[in-house]
Amino acid sequence: MDDEHSKDVKPAASSTLRSFATRAVRAGSAADPLTGAHAPVIYQTATFLLDDANPGAPARAASDPEAPPRDTYSRAGNPTVRSAEAKLAALEGTQAAVAFASGMGAITGMLLSVLRQGDEVLTLGPIYSDTRAVLWDMLPGFGISARRAEAESLESAMAPNTRLIYVETPSNPTLSLIDLAAVAAVARRHQVLTAVDNTFATPFLSRPTEHGIDLVLHSATKYLAGHGDLLAGFVAGDAETLQRVRSVGLRLGGASLEPHAAFLLLRGMRTLHLRMPAHCHNAMAVATALTTAPGVKRVHYPGLKAHTGHELAKRQMSDFGGMVAVDFAGGYQAAVAFVERLELFDHAVSLGDVSSLACVSATTTHASVPAQERQRDGITDGLVRLSVGVEGTDDLVADVLNAATAVAAT
Ligand SMILES: *Cc1c(COP(=O)(O)O)cnc(C)c1O
Repeated sequence: MDDEHSKDVKPAASSTLRSFATRAVRAGSAADPLTGAHAPVIYQTATFLLDDANPGAPARAASDPEAPPRDTYSRAGNPTVRSAEAKLAALEGTQAAVAFASGMGAITGMLLSVLRQGDEVLTLGPIYSDTRAVLWDMLPGFGISARRAEAESLESAMAPNTRLIYVETPSNPTLSLIDLAAVAAVARRHQVLTAVDNTFATPFLSRPTEHGIDLVLHSATKYLAGHGDLLAGFVAGDAETLQRVRSVGLRLGGASLEPHAAFLLLRGMRTLHLRMPAHCHNAMAVATALTTAPGVKRVHYPGLKAHTGHELAKRQMSDFGGMVAVDFAGGYQAAVAFVERLELFDHAVSLGDVSSLACVSATTTHASVPAQERQRDGITDGLVRLSVGVEGTDDLVADVLNAATAVAAT
């Protein structure tokens, strides 16, 4: 940079050797080299100047190898968006990340970048309903198939055309866990790609590539943004695959993140390491209280010893997350009545917001999933999904206990 000012500007703390907290606050957040502005600058522009002598190439680019990548058009890259990508890559510990306009944009963009006609995707355990619809309803029209396998028999489920193993852990909404190291080991023997939707865990609790997984997906709409005020998504992984995700999934798919949303996302991600422990603490308290509440048949939370994934969660995650699911003995009527009586949990889909949210899974987030699949995955009509926020712990516990008690008394 030839600007006087820029010489005093310190580079961002982006070393992956630094602590998670330091990376959350500092990675990707260099001060603006032109003005010295300390907060991220919103580069609200569609296009960037080209070099007159070399039309088609970005101006002032390759001569300085230290210079940040120059963009030509914001659909394929933008400096504010790039800051968010750098921060997420630093948190996941991956070489690269590409941001999208939503989690579904990222998931569909990744799938269309790495798969082609004739390929098969294997899944394990329940996956997000719209991802399921992409794999089972949309991609078959393009000659790409999907099949669900069981974790215990993954090895024998592999077919010659299996190209990708796609999983979610903890899963939505019953918080079942997948052993990522075991999946990665099978995938490596068969030389197939692995992808994990890490939305529920966030890189604060689990970094899938540390267990040998290739690609990490995020709905950054949830915990990464953290305040329920934007839609965003990420794909993270090795530089070579991510280059393809950028040039195919992002550039041709066109679900590009807006610079202003990237700014809000950067603001949210800076406090991920402060919010997640509060979410986990509150979720543990709410889950524990619900286990003995009247009318409750079952509580799904990986932090409870009775949860099937408890031991694996202790190995694979640094804490148990902010999501809880509670199954009412009174079925759908009881679930609806419980949600109606909650005062601090707002009745809404989505999750990862600082404020608490609740919804009845069977008729909202999972309404599009066939009834027999819901049954297989334990998504009963009486199941309420709670996204436990960061309000006062005692207030949240009192709220769920009051609501459960009131429902049981009717
Ligand atoms: C919300 C969600 C998605 C989709 O993300 P959007 O940002 O809503 O497009 C994908 N996977 C999981 C696990 C989610 O919770």
